[in-house]
Amino acid sequence: MKLEISIIYDNTSITGFKHGWGFSTLIKVQYDSETKNILFDTGANKEILFYNMEKLKINPKNIDIIVLSHPHFDHAGGLPYILKIKDDVDVYLPKFIGPLDRTEIYSYGSNRTKFIDVEGIVEITDNVKCVCTKEIFEQFLMVHLSKGLFIISGCAHPGLGRIIDFTKNYGKIFGVMGGFHGFAKLEKLKDIDFIAPCHCTSQTDAIKRLYQDKVHDCGAGKQYELI
Ligand SMILES: [Zn+2]
Ligand SMILES: [Zn+2]
Repeated sequence: MKLEISIIYDNTSITGFKHGWGFSTLIKVQYDSETKNILFDTGANKEILFYNMEKLKINPKNIDIIVLSHPHFDHAGGLPYILKIKDDVDVYLPKFIGPLDRTEIYSYGSNRTKFIDVEGIVEITDNVKCVCTKEIFEQFLMVHLSKGLFIISGCAHPGLGRIIDFTKNYGKIFGVMGGFHGFAKLEKLKDIDFIAPCHCTSQTDAIKRLYQDKVHDCGAGKQYELI
């Protein structure tokens, strides 16, 4: 299994891409005989979202699964527009975050759209799990890679430390990527090999100083390949 990660929307961007406050990433999961395209969050502004998608040669029609970490505008803003283009898709929503206006979110889809509330740990495709608990109310992705577990977070509002501690129960953590918000217990990252602070992370400079060789720059347009 191989992951191809493309950062579509972020607070910063590489040359040629647009940026804005928000987050969206495409996770292409390549299995031996099939591929699944997971869109994790949808950014804030649809113009930026679609501009960057086109630059990355991502066709929204090829999205199989959408995961919404939490319903803040900077993660959910593009959802209605994506669902207009691609409605036969599974959309995973966090069960425990509030307020989440499900009636409004459901209205973005059609009768071909399947909305699923994530409670606990739910496998959305082989080796890729959504996690949402009462304590970790914002859902995150936990991917089983050959090198260990890979965490993808939206804003990490419940605390990245809490997400890391939870994930450790399921195996060695290889990497963590996404918004880390105000996370400051940086020693919790010391055994993690791949660190990509994105979006709302407030301690990016300190993380880089501490873990230079393990930190990967984020930004719209960036791509990573992981096995
Ligand atoms: Zn947020
Ligand atoms: Zn955010």
